[in-house]
Amino acid sequence: MRVRVRVTGIVQGVGFRPFIYRIALKNFLRGYVRNMGDAGVEILLEGGEDNIKSFLGDLRDHKPPLARIYDVLVSPLGGEDQFESFKILESSEEEGFSGSVIPPDVAICDECLKELRDPEDPRYEYFFITCTDCGPRYTIIEGLPYDRENTSMRDFPMCSLCEGEYRDPSNRRFHAQTVACPRCGPKAYLTNNKGELMESRDPIREAGVLLSEGYIVAVKGYGGFHIATATTLDEPIMRLRWVKHRRQKPFAIMARSLESARTFAEVSPREAMLLTSHTRPIVLLNKGESYYLSEHIAPGLHNVGVMLPYTGLHYMLFDRIEEPALVMTSANPPDEPIIKDDDEAVRRLGGTVDYLLLHNRRIVRRCDDSVVRLHGEHQVFLRRSRGYAPEPIKLRERADRCSVGLGGELNNTSCVLLGERAFISQHIGDAEHLETMSFLEEAMKELISLTKARVQAVACDLHPRFTTTRLAEALAEEYGWRVVRVQHHQAHIAALMAEYGLREVIGISCDGYGYGVDGEAWGGEILLCSWGEPGFERLAHLQRQPLIGGDLATRYPLRMAAGMLYGKADIDEWLLQHRGQFPHGEREVEVLLHQLKRGRNVTMTTSCGRVLDAVAAVLGICYERTYEGEPAIKLESSAIKGEDILKLKPIIKDDVLDTSQMLLEIYENRDKYSKADLAYSAHAYIAKGLATIAIEKASERDVKFIGFSGGVACNQILTSIMRRIIEASGLSFIVHEMVPPGDGGLSLGQAVVAGFSQL
Ligand code: ZN
Ligand code: ZN
Ligand code: FE
Repeated sequence: MRVRVRVTGIVQGVGFRPFIYRIALKNFLRGYVRNMGDAGVEILLEGGEDNIKSFLGDLRDHKPPLARIYDVLVSPLGGEDQFESFKILESSEEEGFSGSVIPPDVAICDECLKELRDPEDPRYEYFFITCTDCGPRYTIIEGLPYDRENTSMRDFPMCSLCEGEYRDPSNRRFHAQTVACPRCGPKAYLTNNKGELMESRDPIREAGVLLSEGYIVAVKGYGGFHIATATTLDEPIMRLRWVKHRRQKPFAIMARSLESARTFAEVSPREAMLLTSHTRPIVLLNKGESYYLSEHIAPGLHNVGVMLPYTGLHYMLFDRIEEPALVMTSANPPDEPIIKDDDEAVRRLGGTVDYLLLHNRRIVRRCDDSVVRLHGEHQVFLRRSRGYAPEPIKLRERADRCSVGLGGELNNTSCVLLGERAFISQHIGDAEHLETMSFLEEAMKELISLTKARVQAVACDLHPRFTTTRLAEALAEEYGWRVVRVQHHQAHIAALMAEYGLREVIGISCDGYGYGVDGEAWGGEILLCSWGEPGFERLAHLQRQPLIGGDLATRYPLRMAAGMLYGKADIDEWLLQHRGQFPHGEREVEVLLHQLKRGRNVTMTTSCGRVLDAVAAVLGICYERTYEGEPAIKLESSAIKGEDILKLKPIIKDDVLDTSQMLLEIYENRDKYSKADLAYSAHAYIAKGLATIAIEKASERDVKFIGFSGGVACNQILTSIMRRIIEASGLSFIVHEMVPPGDGGLSLGQAVVAGFSQL
C-alpha cells in the first residue's frame, strides 16, 4: 500500500523528521519524509496496511515534546512501490498550503544542560549549546524552509564533529540547524562600554563576577539585549533607574534556580511548572515573608517578576558568584524596541552600562521575554512574546477572509489571521514612536511572508489619530486591502470570543482608555458582542467622570480624585494639604479648583483604570503615574491582604454604575480603616457592580457567557470576585488564557472582527 501523509503544525526545528524516520523504520516502512517550503512536512509511505496504521498511531501518540500537530492528511496513492528504504529528503522549495508555523525560541533542554556540565563532553561549558529540542528559532530564521542556510547560523560552517551529528538520524542533533560547538560556533566576548575588547579567557563567568561586584552589564541573549545588575545591592539598581529614567517601574529578575527563587518568593506548584517550562516566561511571584532582595527592584509591589536561566550563557553567569538572582531587564531606550545589534548596543547603551557581554551571532528578529501571572489556577499573559510567538492560536472556526490586525497604541502586537489560525507577533511596544512603528510594520510583513498569507483586510482602532490607524490606511492604499475599524473595547471582547469560539458574549471590557464610538474616552464598558454586524452594543458603563487637565489627570491621579469628589465633599483643604504632590504646588491646586467650579469644556471618561487610580491617590498609595497602570497596580498590591470592610452596595441607575459615592466612602473613612481594607473594599465595589449589571444583561438577552477583558482584567482581586458572583448565578465566566487581556490582545480581536464579519 502507498500513502501520502501531510502533517501541519509545529513540525520544523523540533526534531520531527528524525522522529518520523525512527517510527518508519520501526514499522518496516519505506519512502521518505521532507519539509515543505511552507513548514508542513510530507511523508510518503510504502508497506503493509497494518504497518501504516501502526505508524499513524505512533505519530499521534509519541510525537517529540516540542512538536504540535494541527492536521494529518492521509491520501492513498496508486502506482507501484518505488523505494528500497526510508529516507529523509532535503527540504522542498515547492509551495504547498500557506499557513506555515515557525517555532518559537525554546529554553535549553535537560540533555544539553547535562552536556554543558560534563567535562567529557565536546560542548563542555559551551554557552551556545543547543539541539533539535532546544535553542533559538524565531529569532534566527530569515526565511523558510527552516534550514541552516536560512538562519543566522549560516555564518558558522559546521566542523566535522557537528556535521557528523547533524547527518546522523540517530543523533539528537540530527538536522538541528543551530548545532555548534566551541570549535565552529559563535564565540562570546566582553567589552567595556566603548565596545573595546577586554582580554578575558572566560568572558561569561567574568561578567557574572562583575555583576556581583555592582557593575551594570549589557548581556546579549536570543532575541535582544538585557541589562543586568546584582539584586542584593541597592546602588547599581538606583544607578540603573537614574540613567534609564525609570523611577518606579519594576525590573524583571533572573533567579539562579528554582530553589533560589523560593528563598525570596512564594512559588506554587503551578508557578514552578511555568518557570521551568521550555517557554521560560517571566512569572510574577508574590514576594516571600523574608524577601531580602533590594526594595528598588519592584518598589511598592507585592510581587516580583522572576524567570529562570534559559540559555547556556545564563547558567554560566551564575557559576562563580553567590547572587540568588540578577536583574535582567530588556535593553530598550525609552519607548523604543529592544536592542538587538552589537554596534547599536554599544552606541545606545554605552552611557548606561559599564560592560557588554557580546557574542558574534546575529539576532535576526527581536523578541522580548514573555510575562505571565497566575490568578489561582488561571494563567494570565501580561506579555506574550518569547517562547510563544509566533506560534498561532487555533480558533474554533475558519475565518471568511485573511486579515491583519495592527493593534492599538500601547503594548502593541500585530496579528495575521489565516484560516483558523491567528499568528500573533512578538511584543512590539508603544507605537507612538517612529522606531516602534517601523518594528510593527516589519513584524507584520514578516508574519505575512512567513505564512504566505494573502491578506484581504487590515483592521485597526477607531481612534482617528493613532499612528496604527494611519499605518492601516497607508497599507490599504498600497496593497488594495480593505480597512476595517474596530472599537477598542469590542476588540478586547472579540479576542476573548475567538479564544473560546463563542458567537455571543456579554463582555465586561475595562482598561485605561479606548476611543468610544461617540468620540469620548471609554474604559469601563459592558457590551453585548456578537459575530457579524453590528458587532456590539454598549449596554452599560461606569459613571462618566471628569478628566481635569486631560492627560495630566492620568499622570497625577489626585486630579482624577478631585474631579470625582467635587461637589460631594469639601476637598479644598485636603487638596491644599497635598499640594506637594502637584508639580506646581499651591498654584496648581487653585487652578484645579477653579476649573472644577467652572466645570466647562471638561473631557469625560468612563475608564475603570482612572477610578482605581483615584482610589490609590485618596489612600496615599500613589500620587504620580510613572509607568502604565502604576496607581492601579499598586492599589491591587495594597489590597491583596485586605478585606471588604465597607461592604458597599453597588449603586446602579439607568445602566450606569456610580463610582463617586464609592470614592466618597473611601475618602471619608480614610483615617478609620487600614489602607489594605479600604483598597480591597474599592475593588469589591467595582467587581460587584460590574458583575451585577452583566448578570442582569445576560438574563435579559438570554446570553450564557460573561467575559472579562481589557488591561484591568490582569487584576486578580477584581477577576476572582467577579468569577465568584457570576458563576454563583449559573452563568459561565470567561477570561483570556492564550492572549493578554491588555492591549497586547487587541490585534487578535481586530483581525477576528475583520476576518469574520460580513463586509
Ligand atoms: Zn537541547
Ligand atoms: Zn562544531
Ligand atoms: Fe485596552
